Amino acid sequence: MIDTARSSWTDVRDHVAAGNTIAFLPFGALEQHGPHLPLSTDTIQCAGIAARLAEHYSGLLLPAVPYGQTWDNGGYPGTISLAASTVTAICLDIAASARSFGVTTLVIVNGDYGNRAPVHAAAAQLIDAGADVLVLDYPGLVEVGDAVKESPWAAPGLCHADELETSMVLALEPELVHPDRYVAEYPEMPADFGTRPIRFDTLSESGVFGDPRLSTAQKGEAIVSFVVQRSIEEIDAHLGSGARE
Ligand SMILES: [Zn+2]
Repeated sequence: MIDTARSSWTDVRDHVAAGNTIAFLPFGALEQHGPHLPLSTDTIQCAGIAARLAEHYSGLLLPAVPYGQTWDNGGYPGTISLAASTVTAICLDIAASARSFGVTTLVIVNGDYGNRAPVHAAAAQLIDAGADVLVLDYPGLVEVGDAVKESPWAAPGLCHADELETSMVLALEPELVHPDRYVAEYPEMPADFGTRPIRFDTLSESGVFGDPRLSTAQKGEAIVSFVVQRSIEEIDAHLGSGARE
């Protein structure tokens, strides 16, 4: 595995020339995650998962994009949101550069819900242009969450600064978690939640959706390794499907 940001251009050239032509791009966000988690929570999670995938495939690990489309968290200080079109443009630019020096498959490891639509839009454009791109939105996350979490979800499939996300950060960057600030909050969710734009600060005072109090690093490791395993299955299926150039 080559960590691109920490390597020289000749290291990258030689790694690609040796046949290692798959690259991993973690796409994160700078987004509030309650009083107990850092704004970089989504970035830490997708960077951690992408690093394990790059290791598994002897790929190129690209630096995580530390900003994303996170309009719904805009009411909490520190949150910085990109326009959806900016997220799409960043993906297109990075894919074009990576392709120019021999990357044949780009795997985008998306860490933020708001990035989904614009990252998928970029992938569609890239595929139309003949590039090989795969977007991963944490496959298996809900399944492993159901198995590992002891606290209920704030809404079906919604994890935000809750036991699941807090456990993941405890496994990846424990020094950034403040357990003394844990609060549980189960906002009353509108019936049409997820179907229209809604600001989170109109729903949750703390920014937490769920209950982080039973979080542990062990649960986080179980979640991260399950998502990594599922991601490997998706990537293997993709590479075996002949989509690769
Ligand atoms: Zn998050």
